[in-house]
Amino acid sequence: MNLYEYMGKSIFKQYGLPVPESYLVEKESDVKSFTRPVVVKSQILLGGRGKSGGIKFAKSEKELTQGVKELLGSKIRGLTVTKVLVEEMLNIGKEYYVSIALNRTDRAPVLIATSAGGVEIESVPEDKIFKRTIDPLLGYSDFIGREATQFMGLSPEIGKQFRGILKGLYEIFVKEDCELVEINPLVETKEGRLMAADSKVIMDSDSMFRHPDIDITDPEKTPLELEAQGRGYSFVELQGNIGVIANGAGLTMATLDGLTLHNGKPRNFLDLGGTDSVDIVVNAFEMVMKADPKAILVNIFGGVTKCDTVANGIVAAKERLSIQKPIVVRLSGVHEDEGRRILSDNGIESYPGMMQAIESVVKKVGGN
Ligand code: GDP
Ligand code: MN
Repeated sequence: MNLYEYMGKSIFKQYGLPVPESYLVEKESDVKSFTRPVVVKSQILLGGRGKSGGIKFAKSEKELTQGVKELLGSKIRGLTVTKVLVEEMLNIGKEYYVSIALNRTDRAPVLIATSAGGVEIESVPEDKIFKRTIDPLLGYSDFIGREATQFMGLSPEIGKQFRGILKGLYEIFVKEDCELVEINPLVETKEGRLMAADSKVIMDSDSMFRHPDIDITDPEKTPLELEAQGRGYSFVELQGNIGVIANGAGLTMATLDGLTLHNGKPRNFLDLGGTDSVDIVVNAFEMVMKADPKAILVNIFGGVTKCDTVANGIVAAKERLSIQKPIVVRLSGVHEDEGRRILSDNGIESYPGMMQAIESVVKKVGGN
């Protein structure tokens, strides 16, 4: 779960990290009167907003209202801006980079810092980057910070502020279940203060129940995907025309691969999961039908999910939702014969093999 800059900064603030003063604007009337130069920043989940025109600098009331007007509702690299952050402008002296990320290989957090910040970390030469794995049992200690400070060549005063930030960042990383906390740029102002000018925070999606205050409406999801999430399905919309229902993430992925191999274009990913309920099958059909596919492919390997239950679900869905579109089913596994008998009694095409079903459904939508 990727957080917006303003959400990340509000967490930074809670943990005592220095962030510029700011307020959030969702409509033009939220803009407060101008008192000093500000930066107007699009709240979208993309890096490089600066370069893409998503950040405006305002040195007057007029530039502020103009900047907000221009950004709100605009599209930046395909994403619509619905919120902007109006933030006190910093007098930038230097830009640093610092992050703590989960390193899955080491199963430990890794601290990365460089005095060549402000640009993407990937573009910084290796020998300018300080990198240290933090033992999760020992946690962050000041000696790690002192090493980093020395490596980066920070002055004693800035170094002291920097170590305070590291300590806070590590605390956030652990307590807020993060996969990444990043400040780029971490600004040293001309007045000699460190400030988090940007924030990037990724929280472990499986921990969201521990963070009820965070709005989990993932803006990267389509309305249909959000609805499916609410109903408990993993569902992803794609651009094709063949609706897909399968069980298990692996089999669902294999189904999409199989379709693609035969020049079929999947309309969605839907993993039914392990279930033995007719209604769950019917609801899955309801989701897929909302995506308006030309045909539907069901691919079930029966285990916990029994083939006859799925077959009854398909028959019920066809009836209740009055589905006219072609349905092609692959059924194999537990209660397979019974399942296929139910389908053939109801005039629904089914196969024991996945590729046969795939070839048939692709023909039906007019592919190869
Ligand atoms: P990103 O491009 O999406 O990563 O957005 P950032 O928040 O990192 O901003 C991009 C760049 O804008 C920064 O690297 C700074 O150079 C500049 N910037 C951001 N905030 C300020 C500010 O308060 N004052 C000044 N002068 N520049 C800023
Ligand atoms: Mn940035």
